[in-house]
Amino acid sequence: MKLLLHTCCAPCSVYPVKVLRKEGIEPTLFWYNPNIHPYQEYKARRDCLKEYAKKIGAELVVQDYYGLDEFVCNVNSSACNLSRRCEEYCYPLRLREACEYAVANGYDAISTTLLYSIYQKHDFVREILQALADDYGLTFVYRDFREGWEEGQREAREVGLYMQKYCGCVYSEEESFIGRKLAKKMQKQGVSPTNWNVRKVIEKSKKDGIIDLNKTTSAV
Ligand code: SF4
Repeated sequence: MKLLLHTCCAPCSVYPVKVLRKEGIEPTLFWYNPNIHPYQEYKARRDCLKEYAKKIGAELVVQDYYGLDEFVCNVNSSACNLSRRCEEYCYPLRLREACEYAVANGYDAISTTLLYSIYQKHDFVREILQALADDYGLTFVYRDFREGWEEGQREAREVGLYMQKYCGCVYSEEESFIGRKLAKKMQKQGVSPTNWNVRKVIEKSKKDGIIDLNKTTSAV
């Protein structure tokens, strides 16, 4: 089996590569992540993967495209709801590119390290990659890599990999560093249902002026 493994970053590749190798599958890592911003962060994750691939003797294909403008325009278009940007734009974009590369370069199987992170929308990633694999005539090698979340994270830290603090796009950065604090503040004020997602908390606070984001940013 010739498998292309879409790889979002080095830390998320540790456990999946280990599992696949144990099964006798030698994956080719495939970098295509124009969802990572700003550029220094993109570069840090890309370069860390390059070094890690070399260290473990894995083949790595780098589709080097930062793509900030295109990404931001697309997730802000009327067709894309910011709260659903992962499902409507980001996952399909990256996984389709991986499938296209796989078909054009003689691979017969596809998978992704997005199936490893407990923070990704696992069921959707599984569904969209299955659909794409069917369209492209590829075998989707599905594994629930989340089983090894702690093991993979521990090993990534042990070998000194760069560990990012947010998913990738500027919106996820905002959610990580501002949204959660806003949600807590709003809950304390009794105006936020506890089950809101962080993006909705940010959108509501901007819309209603309940909390001034600019002032809050400097205060958090
Ligand atoms: S949160 Fe992550 S998966 Fe969702 S759009 Fe941003 S970078 Fe992509």
